[in-house]
Amino acid sequence: MSLQKPSNHEQGQLVALWSELNNRKRTSPKPFSSADLEVLKTHIPEGDFTWGGEPGEWHVYSCGDKDCDRQWHLVAYYEDISRNNGVLTIDGYSVDEDGNHDLDFEWHDGDDLSELYSMSEEIQSAFFLGWAEYWINAAETGLDPCSIAIDTPSKHDNWPKFCINAAKNMLVYDSKGETA
Ligand SMILES: [Zn+2]
Repeated sequence: MSLQKPSNHEQGQLVALWSELNNRKRTSPKPFSSADLEVLKTHIPEGDFTWGGEPGEWHVYSCGDKDCDRQWHLVAYYEDISRNNGVLTIDGYSVDEDGNHDLDFEWHDGDDLSELYSMSEEIQSAFFLGWAEYWINAAETGLDPCSIAIDTPSKHDNWPKFCINAAKNMLVYDSKGETA
């Protein structure tokens, strides 16, 4: 199985996509704010309650670990929200592809809001940009390390073109301000 390499034309498109991606990453996203918390509070019950969350869409990220042969990994986030004895508590979890759940934060009303990391726009706005970077990388390497495409790269007539289109779509979703 030989890897499909981008043509000269496609390499030009990839240079443009990297540049666009890096421009968007420079705009700094908003953290979870006290106004966001007030909105959240209008959506939760009065008194004591417990809500269990469900993992959302897969985010993708590059670990940058030199010893890692795939580099790209999936992670999803969810929160358990409860009020016990009048104290609002939000527990934030992440789950990986192997189903390992990690407690990322344990927030109680009055704690610093910056701890609500996975609820912030920072992680939400990274969603489509993360996927755009994944597809740009897939076009360049000829690989699909997270096995996202229905067919393996070798079954595609033009894998780089497929990936470039996927990356462009992610940037369009990002510019529409959509979130995971
Ligand atoms: Zn890794």
